[in-house]
Amino acid sequence: MPMKQRRITLSEREIPENWYNIRADIANPAPPLLDSKTLKPVTADDLKELFPDEVVSHMTTSERWVPIPEPVREAYSKWRPTPLHRAYDLEKLLDTPAKIYYKNEAASLSGSHKINTAFAQAYAHQNVGCERLTSEVATGQWGAALCLAAQHFGMKADAFVLKLSHLREPYHSHLMSFWGGDVKASPSRTTVSGQKFHKENPFSTGVLGVATAEALESSMKHKPKLGYIMGGGLGQVDLHQSIIGLETIKQFEKIDVVPDVVISSFGAGTAFAGISYPMMHWAKEHDKSIRFIAVESSACPTLSRGQYRYDYIDTAGHLPLVPMYTLGHHFEAPPIFAGNLRFHGAGISASLLLREKQFEVATVHNIDALKAAYQFTHSEGVMISYSTCYAVVKAIEEALKCKESGEAKNIVFCLDGAGDYEVAGMSALSSAIHPLLTADEDKMQQSLQNLNTPLIEN
Ligand SMILES: *Cc1c(COP(=O)(O)O)cnc(C)c1O
Repeated sequence: MPMKQRRITLSEREIPENWYNIRADIANPAPPLLDSKTLKPVTADDLKELFPDEVVSHMTTSERWVPIPEPVREAYSKWRPTPLHRAYDLEKLLDTPAKIYYKNEAASLSGSHKINTAFAQAYAHQNVGCERLTSEVATGQWGAALCLAAQHFGMKADAFVLKLSHLREPYHSHLMSFWGGDVKASPSRTTVSGQKFHKENPFSTGVLGVATAEALESSMKHKPKLGYIMGGGLGQVDLHQSIIGLETIKQFEKIDVVPDVVISSFGAGTAFAGISYPMMHWAKEHDKSIRFIAVESSACPTLSRGQYRYDYIDTAGHLPLVPMYTLGHHFEAPPIFAGNLRFHGAGISASLLLREKQFEVATVHNIDALKAAYQFTHSEGVMISYSTCYAVVKAIEEALKCKESGEAKNIVFCLDGAGDYEVAGMSALSSAIHPLLTADEDKMQQSLQNLNTPLIEN
């Protein structure tokens, strides 16, 4: 019997030369970003106060294809293209006629998709004479990507890591230090925003908006030597992550398969954007019908329960107000292990596409995510990140539907991160000491009622 083809690979030469920009294909553009103090539309020049021109162009361009600078492509070739896997053993476990594939972003140097954008932003900052990079870090994958990208381009990094993540995932913090980063548990005492918050909330384990304010504050103090980069972002990150979907298309073309369902976890929506947006374009071009599913956590149901309106990303209001689905910037999601699914908002383009019903939303409970992780790890043998578990729940559900109907659908999900550094949390989960965390209805309503930012009409 011939050996099964478990991995569909591409050579370095096949790394795409352009990123794909979904903004070129959204009929109704997003409302403008607003200055958080004056509520006036923010111009590209305003954004250039915070970001290098190249990054601002990535946030604002409506060109469909944006060339990937050669040094970034070269850096990508250290681990890209990532393999597309066929999950034969999971299929067997589920006894399904469905074919399950996953795009393995855990195969990156830092263990997740985050580095695709970290390298792109680091390069743009290095080009304008930057010597250090900084950012807020909700979970270690972004911090690791930040520090490694800075190191690759000859810079240092300051990572404002939420105290909770720092305590829970110490190995990620070690990794950041190992790659030359300075790890600061947030709220820290090194910034005014950190000190102020700490005084009012001495026992806080960290809030993303505050960590963001800390990173922005220190960047603005030492501009342009200290550059601020983003893991979620204002559109530039969706662009950089498109490399995931563009490779996936080439891989499916190679085996002459058209996916029926594309699935990704959804925190800020950049992994989802990465795998889905290029395929949405491809499906239109090739007249194929593909379903896209974003999987959020019931601890932070932004897409299914949020309001479409302007909201803050950082608590100090340095960044513009963003039009997006949000649960309110004061909403503190329960401390599920998938910290990267706890963001109160959603991507700008994802919010528009959701209004246009271009994709489906699934809201998955923490415990179901754990069960799916077992099925995946026990069959495929791969330790996946907490966030990936959410996507696996949906992949399994779709595969089991095929078992009922007898259809052999092609299902693909984004394996957005490795679980190797999260083993401690996994074992806490498996010993069932993990509470059943889901968003508190009253807190969610209260957070939304307290918002005084502009609502966006239909
Ligand atoms: C950041 C992150 C997420 C959540 O963010 P998205 O923007 O939705 O991708 C999910 N998984 C991993 C591994 C991450 O690092």
